[in-house]
Amino acid sequence: MFRLQKNTFKHGIHPPECKDETKDLAIRQFPFSPVVILPLAQHIGAPSELLVREGQEVIRGQLLAKANGFVSVPLHAPVSGTIRKIKDVPTVSGQMVKGIFLEAFPSDTQEVWGGDPLDLDTASAEDILQGIQDAGIVGLGGAAFPTHVKLKIPEGKKCEYLILNGIECEPFLTTDHRVMLEQDEDIFMGIRYLMKATNAENVIIGIEANKQDAADYLKSKIPADLPVRIQVVPVKYPQGAEKMLITSILGKEVPSGGLPIDAGAVVVNVATVAEIGRLLPLGRGIQERVVTITGPAVKKKGNYLIPIGTPLRFVLEQVGVEENISEVYMGGPMMGVAVSNLDISITKGTSGILVFTDENTPKKEDKIYPCIRCGACVDACPISLLPLKLGTLAKHKSYDEMVDEYNLMDCFECGSCSYVCPSNIPLVQYFRQSKAIVRKRKSNK
Ligand code: SF4
Ligand code: SF4
Repeated sequence: MFRLQKNTFKHGIHPPECKDETKDLAIRQFPFSPVVILPLAQHIGAPSELLVREGQEVIRGQLLAKANGFVSVPLHAPVSGTIRKIKDVPTVSGQMVKGIFLEAFPSDTQEVWGGDPLDLDTASAEDILQGIQDAGIVGLGGAAFPTHVKLKIPEGKKCEYLILNGIECEPFLTTDHRVMLEQDEDIFMGIRYLMKATNAENVIIGIEANKQDAADYLKSKIPADLPVRIQVVPVKYPQGAEKMLITSILGKEVPSGGLPIDAGAVVVNVATVAEIGRLLPLGRGIQERVVTITGPAVKKKGNYLIPIGTPLRFVLEQVGVEENISEVYMGGPMMGVAVSNLDISITKGTSGILVFTDENTPKKEDKIYPCIRCGACVDACPISLLPLKLGTLAKHKSYDEMVDEYNLMDCFECGSCSYVCPSNIPLVQYFRQSKAIVRKRKSNK
């Protein structure tokens, strides 16, 4: 039996939650759009490599593109239909990448292609990691990092704790909440595969106190043979960041520049685990994901099971939105991205879509005022960085100093500092850009 030492982390913020309107709405199947648009780059790592050609007919679940290296996953057809075009498509980052336009067969039953089931009893750890990669699984909490890479335990390290991240601390989002209430069997099956893959002896499901119903439900369903413990932690943003979760649950800090495994843990989003438990026994790939669609401008709010590649424009037409929409976010309001193009599509990493009107857009003020050195950003940063100092250095393009003396690369872009800044300084945007520049410089060396 392990001892839980702490139940929270230092600093953090308490943004208003706005989850009430969707948290009690069961997951519903979303209609199939006439065309799905599938960027080949929809995860961190190398984009998948195309296997189909224009004019080809494919069946739902069929492989469209294979993994292009270890840090890459394949892409499966979310609908049965015809490949109409292969050309550059817009993505949420604003970049254009190669993509597939797949036109669905009208009135098709949309049966899924049969797969090669991965037998839990006979599969080795390597087989399971391969099965997870073959299923195209990435972090569904929004990170879109290939899950099999995260689960590969480096030589000399030991995974003592497998932690399921059911925190969902982003305001508005309720997908993980619903998955925990509706897919307990998939979650426990996923845990079985992951325990074998990581050799973990202890499993902890971390859940924020605002989802006590999910915690109680899962607790009542834990199979007798699984060493699973439910740990409820206080509501605080960014509790769902994996380093914060490790601190809250294990009372350990992941060292600067380190990984969760340096604290003996592997952290996997709970919906990702459910998907592993659902897909591996069938040997299938991801074709759809649960997305919260909400915000003051949305008429039919809810948690929807949406085929990957469904165009955002089609989604908004189906749920109905007010005429005077001002902002559309992909993801939550804290870590998500405000989009300027409705022709992008739902990808594996899309956990939420939020739509606002002019009157209720969060933080409407555009003007940036000078820093008043109030220190609010320092008090908010959960990993004790100095955002005000980093902000000044970013303005002066002093990237080396930001990295060497102020640990820029540890910033995980939670946005807490920007959120509390009374001068409206977009600190997290500065840090995001600075990190991108530092990475680019490094790769050019
Ligand atoms: S965005 Fe970075 S600097 Fe700002 S609070 Fe979060 S971790 Fe700290
Ligand atoms: S919160 Fe904003 S104004 Fe206050 S110290 Fe930080 S950067 Fe300056």
